[in-house]
Amino acid sequence: MNADATPQALDIVIFGGTGDLAFRKLLPALYMAHLHDRLPASTRIVGIGRQAWGRDAYLRFIEEKSVEFIESEAWSQADWQRFMARLDYVDLDVTQAAAYGKLQQALSPDALRVFYLATAPDLFAQICAQLHVIGLVDDHARVVVEKPLGTDLASARAINAEIARYFREDQIYRIDHYLGKETVQNLMVLRFGNAIFEPLWRAPSIRGVQITVAEAVGVGSRAGFYDGAGALRDMVQNHLLQLLCIVAMEPPISLNPDDVRDEKLKVLRSLRTMDLADIKRDTVRGQYSAGVSEGAAVPGYLQEADVPAHSQTETFVALRAHIDNARWANVPFFLRTGKRLQKRQSEIIIEFTEQPFSIFGKSPSLQPNRLIISLQPEESIQLAMMVKEPGSGMNLHPVRLSLDLQETSSKRRADAYERLLMDVIKGRLTHFMRRDELEAAWRWIDPILAGWQTLDEKPRHYAAGSWGPAASSALMARENLTWFEES
Ligand code: NAP
Repeated sequence: MNADATPQALDIVIFGGTGDLAFRKLLPALYMAHLHDRLPASTRIVGIGRQAWGRDAYLRFIEEKSVEFIESEAWSQADWQRFMARLDYVDLDVTQAAAYGKLQQALSPDALRVFYLATAPDLFAQICAQLHVIGLVDDHARVVVEKPLGTDLASARAINAEIARYFREDQIYRIDHYLGKETVQNLMVLRFGNAIFEPLWRAPSIRGVQITVAEAVGVGSRAGFYDGAGALRDMVQNHLLQLLCIVAMEPPISLNPDDVRDEKLKVLRSLRTMDLADIKRDTVRGQYSAGVSEGAAVPGYLQEADVPAHSQTETFVALRAHIDNARWANVPFFLRTGKRLQKRQSEIIIEFTEQPFSIFGKSPSLQPNRLIISLQPEESIQLAMMVKEPGSGMNLHPVRLSLDLQETSSKRRADAYERLLMDVIKGRLTHFMRRDELEAAWRWIDPILAGWQTLDEKPRHYAAGSWGPAASSALMARENLTWFEES
């Protein structure tokens, strides 16, 4: 099937069809695509799980779980019923080879088959192998794999190698939903579609870059997985490094998937590997203790369900990264992510160099120009500039130019999962990670993990509801910078 072509018939098979990701994100996204007529008419969606349910029981489960995650204005009983007519369920323990026959019977032989692997990654190899055995992996098959793909470079390589035994690289969609966000995609247009930014998008015009992905929630029911991972593996290895790549990459020669991914790979390969001294100086590990989050008293990480009493897992990371190339020499990239932070907020801040000389003296209002790219909870791109306050005198006043179409366009903004699922259906790989990219990201992360062990770097405690350990602010202060935190 040609890339960028909408197939006539489509079977989407969700392994992990009863799981949190499926009912909270994937099925609501597919409902929206259905509602807006974006799915081929003969699309079917097959959920897979181990519960010995029939189709009706699955439909009841999905209705109970998914509807609250669909915008209320978009939901109607009639549309939901039409959407549900596309759904089916196959009970199948993926570790049991004999059970796969049921799946084969449930699928149409001529349809494009999208296999979405929303299970723990240690099941991916078995699933791919069995799909191959029953003859479902051919030119009409695509596979989508969720993060985290591995826990280090060696395990990521092993999983990639297993998947590659059955699927060609151009059939593998490694998803990072941050790449599906409108604003992240818009950042590429802003950078490469406007002549004014390119000359400034480098050292020394840029003073520093901050990338924050802050969550207000705690570990919730994910401790079983999370405690073995921690924030560096769960968030930095994928989401934050992908955002860094979009900010830092050179202009690709085209929007073809490999051209874009080649440029992202170069950025990952230009990240300076940290030695022990760098790790000690430039990374901060944290773990939340009890505090007040969004007005309510909340327990510390160690008091959360299923967290081992003496866990040293980090729920917060801040670090300074160096990109060793001509564009970014000496420009600090600060990355920060954590749970139970003051609020849910994901943003990229590009801070431009200050005026070398101010004819306005030391006006307290004089602020550096910043490009503020907000990804969560709302998406927006704003350029902070100085203007004259109206009236007599030359008083300075900061203003924000809005650089996206949120308010002026009536066009619907699809959510990241809907956008990326449609890319999979249409065979567009640009916003998915290639194997070498993913491995390069782990190659940079592994020494940090090992260094923390060697240095016996214990997480510093921070109160739930704060912005993380004080050492995170100190990391910025060394560069005379501060984290951009708007109340
Ligand atoms: P989850 O709620 O624990 O769901 C796991 C799913 O896997 C369930 O549907 C479970 O089905 C199925 N499963 C487990 N063992 C199976 C087996 N032997 N045979 C068949 N099905 C089996 O996990 P999740 O939160 O949805 O996450 C799924 C994957 O996506 C994980 O790798 C996670 O890291 C990744 N992810 C999740 C999110 C998120 O927001 N949740 C975001 C990004 C990435 P039954 O128990 O019904 O059999």
